[in-house]
Amino acid sequence: MKLSRQFTVFGSAIFCVVVFSLYLMLDHIDHSKNPNGERIQKGQLGILQDKIDHLERLLAENNEIIGNIRDSVINLRETVKDGKMFPEGNMSQGDLELLPPAPALLPIHSEDCQFAARTYSKAADGVQMLDVYDLLSFDNPDGGVWKQGFDISYQDNEWDNEPLQVFVVPHSHNDPGWLKTFDDYYRDQTQHILNNMVVKLHEDSRRKMIWSEISYFSKWWDNIDEQKRDAVRRLIESGQLEVATGGWVMPDEANTHYFALIDQLVEGHQWLERNLGVKPKTGWAVDPFGHTPTQAYLLRQAGLSNMLIQRVHYSVKKHFASQKTLEFFWRQNWDQDSSSDILCHMMPFYSYDVPHTCGPDPKICCQFDFKRLPGGRISCPWRIPPQAITDNNVQERAQTLLDQYRKKSKLFRTNVLLAPLGDDFRYTEAVEWDQQFENYQKLFDYMNSHPELHVQAQFGTISDYFEALRKSTGMDPVGMNVGQLALPVLSGDFFTYADRDDHYWSGYFTSRPFYKRLDRVLESHLRAAEVLYSLTLANIQKYGQPNDYPAVDNYKLLTEARRNLGLFQHHDAITGTGKDWVVVDYGTRLFHSILNVKRVIVSSAHWLVLKDKQTYYHDPSNPVLQMVSVHIFFTVPRLLVVYNPTEQARMSMVTVYVTTPKVRVLNAVGHVVRAQVSAVWNDVSHAAADKMSLKEDDSEHLIKVEFVWYGTTSNKDKSGAYLFLPDKEATIYSPSQPPVVRVTKGPLFSEVTTTFTHITHTLRLYNIQGVEGQSVEICNTVDIRGETNHEIAMRITSDLNSKDRFFTDLNGYQVQPRKTLAKLPLQANFYPMTSMVYLQDSSARLSLLTAQSLGAASLKSGQLEVIMDRRLNQDDNRGLGQGVLDNKITANSFRLLLEKRSSAEEESAPYSYPSILSHMSYMYLNHPLISMAVSQRSESPSLTPYSPLSASFPCDMHLVNLRAIQSKVRGGPSEQAALILHRKGFDCGFSNRNTALLCTTTRGKVHLEKLLTDLKLKSITPVSLSLMHTYNSDADPQEISLKPMEIRTYRLQLS
Ligand SMILES: [Zn+2]
Repeated sequence: MKLSRQFTVFGSAIFCVVVFSLYLMLDHIDHSKNPNGERIQKGQLGILQDKIDHLERLLAENNEIIGNIRDSVINLRETVKDGKMFPEGNMSQGDLELLPPAPALLPIHSEDCQFAARTYSKAADGVQMLDVYDLLSFDNPDGGVWKQGFDISYQDNEWDNEPLQVFVVPHSHNDPGWLKTFDDYYRDQTQHILNNMVVKLHEDSRRKMIWSEISYFSKWWDNIDEQKRDAVRRLIESGQLEVATGGWVMPDEANTHYFALIDQLVEGHQWLERNLGVKPKTGWAVDPFGHTPTQAYLLRQAGLSNMLIQRVHYSVKKHFASQKTLEFFWRQNWDQDSSSDILCHMMPFYSYDVPHTCGPDPKICCQFDFKRLPGGRISCPWRIPPQAITDNNVQERAQTLLDQYRKKSKLFRTNVLLAPLGDDFRYTEAVEWDQQFENYQKLFDYMNSHPELHVQAQFGTISDYFEALRKSTGMDPVGMNVGQLALPVLSGDFFTYADRDDHYWSGYFTSRPFYKRLDRVLESHLRAAEVLYSLTLANIQKYGQPNDYPAVDNYKLLTEARRNLGLFQHHDAITGTGKDWVVVDYGTRLFHSILNVKRVIVSSAHWLVLKDKQTYYHDPSNPVLQMVSVHIFFTVPRLLVVYNPTEQARMSMVTVYVTTPKVRVLNAVGHVVRAQVSAVWNDVSHAAADKMSLKEDDSEHLIKVEFVWYGTTSNKDKSGAYLFLPDKEATIYSPSQPPVVRVTKGPLFSEVTTTFTHITHTLRLYNIQGVEGQSVEICNTVDIRGETNHEIAMRITSDLNSKDRFFTDLNGYQVQPRKTLAKLPLQANFYPMTSMVYLQDSSARLSLLTAQSLGAASLKSGQLEVIMDRRLNQDDNRGLGQGVLDNKITANSFRLLLEKRSSAEEESAPYSYPSILSHMSYMYLNHPLISMAVSQRSESPSLTPYSPLSASFPCDMHLVNLRAIQSKVRGGPSEQAALILHRKGFDCGFSNRNTALLCTTTRGKVHLEKLLTDLKLKSITPVSLSLMHTYNSDADPQEISLKPMEIRTYRLQLS
């Protein structure tokens, strides 16, 4: 590379930042001394030309998002020019006195190590999913009418003493985007469903309905008049209409991060509280493609008592049906008592549609889906149509249906039976309401008026069902105390889902990875904006004078961002299983909100760092702080404000683009900060190596990174957006062209970039004390747009003797041990990886931390594999009706961390925890420092560093969010915020020498008042996760105390 032709260079500065601090940096250049000034001008023109060309290319592909995300998030093209490029001047000494020196050994209280180190003892009545997987043969015999099950028989007199209680629960599954966009579905279907609901439920008080997606409900609410709203309120009060779960969407459970799962739940519940005063009791998740215990935990913490799940591996369903364990208390693997228990119902059959919900025989059940009456638009594929119920056929019809109900009931322990009645976008037309409700009412009337049938059948909501179930088992209505009839306790998760044969839904763990990355970018920016916004509001209150800060406008931007992020958590959004144009709709929403939350960040940061608040003014067209990553015209010293969005002090690299190598970086008090200047590359040059070894203590481990291809099977059913059906084991990626390799060395970081035809692979090592220097950064830019039916994976091979065991996280919240099973096909051994995957032996652990959700496996001992992108030419017959051919150039970012074990972990334990260092590395990867340049138009405002906390939070305490709460009366913010904290579980069995962490652990206690600098704690009240329930606490409200793994919310007022 010739620098003179490409004068875009950037300085990477290391400096210290204190908790939430905003720091100032001065960027000095002396332009007059630059002998190449003229060439800079040319270089600038060249850069502009390149950028325009680049934009044109992007527009041509209808993916301008890439360009923006590329500029703002991933600095791929930069690399380092070594010593010669280093600017002159006094740059040799770092100036780090702003941070206290980190202790050589991380001070962890021994009590804080006990949680992870306890020995595992299984509950006597427990079902552990890892054991179930060991036990099952995963054969797939033909089960007769219930294909994936078995014949069910019963005695006619079984219900003589205690009648069968049947609850038929009408539901309509409304995807907020899939084959149509959210808005198109609303216009064409959803609004009609809800409008008809108001009319049709009022016609007969025995009719019931449940609704779960608040994204749709709130949109409809905004469009109806007050009279209709009152009618809805009456339906809810009378119990005819129930809101189940009440989240913004019915979220995917594999790719979603718990930050976003919580955020969409809070958004839905806050809306309900404001508009309907409803507190949901029961979760309803019929369509997510596999289920996570994280969601069970979050629902429990939000105050829900019951939940329902549906898409579980058919072999697991069959096993549970035979054991009558389809209803259980779902307990977290890590839970040492029963405090995380929630009552869960698993639906036994193939689907949530009517043919698969009345009983085991879909041919019969389909006849009781009265939307399929002859003459309608849909019919029964089993070729026996429904008949309208008349006096002539009611006896036979009722008995036929009752036979199915009785058979289904044999799979459960009680006489209370659930029969959902609905499907995707059902009840759109008035006639459909009449067909279903009138015919079923005739059947119920017949059954209930014939005592010899020993059945009581009715419409019900999902909570009606659970209430009756609890009553019949002697449980109390909401608690988790096991009644007279004990239900089993279950721990573990329900991945990886298969609905039939070898059709494992592990493809969607990776499908459309570009958007999975975009999701994380919005998450970290939204969180950063929420925290800064809440602090600004409190600060303004303290300041007490009217000002120009756009509190209401920013609140609207935040609300929209919460809702766009919430929408994307839907099980056809983040999963990558929507139509191409629906994907674009989601992507546009995400991107739009990234830009908007950046506006919130800069306007809030501007207020906080301003020395004289009187001088604050808001000019959205030309803000004082600007989050642009390319600063081309550096003619005078520039001020840079850097925001650390994490809750611990940190030392991190900050990347800034500059137009000259003559750069000096000063901190807020004028001391020089160590910096490294390196070139931005537009083409590639040469060198070599794709092997590396990490060294920790005295032991060396060989770790090799390579890439592999998967094809798709030659069978009829092929890989698609949902399914992964590989042809065979992966083949090593070996392009015909030799790779171009670039090696860069510098005082702060060094890297190797290897460019293949389909991947640009960068390994970077930081020479920085602290977390940043402990792991290797990996960035793969993948482009498989020219491929046909190919999937590309990164394979990391190590000499660790991990055998068949490895570990993946669930939703970034907890770690689930995995076992690679030879009895399962290759695709079944892939699991979702939301934040990390690791493997270990008695001496070491190798973790791959990720900045985006992807599918991961460990197919051989010592080996980790991550699918990075998939290009598939066909549909996989799950309704989407298209392949995955809208691939984008996608950057996948990771960190690879090798840690020495000082104590072995119990092999069979169903839980495992990352180390503190691993947690912290994950935070660095996913919450980078945010830099903002002060605009150049006028004289620089007088700024001052801002730090709301006097010290770091404890190492294991994570500030999930500080989320402003909407005012009850106006559209803007109230004076309160939701403080959401998570105490992480961690494993002390790793060396914590020289990790240079600037925090400690405190047995889960945080004294907030003592930590705050300028703000005061006006009030703090413990509440449920989504603020629906207020807890009375005798404990000192000033001192927050969390158990390991606990997530708690507090209603907070600062001033
Ligand atoms: Zn769905």
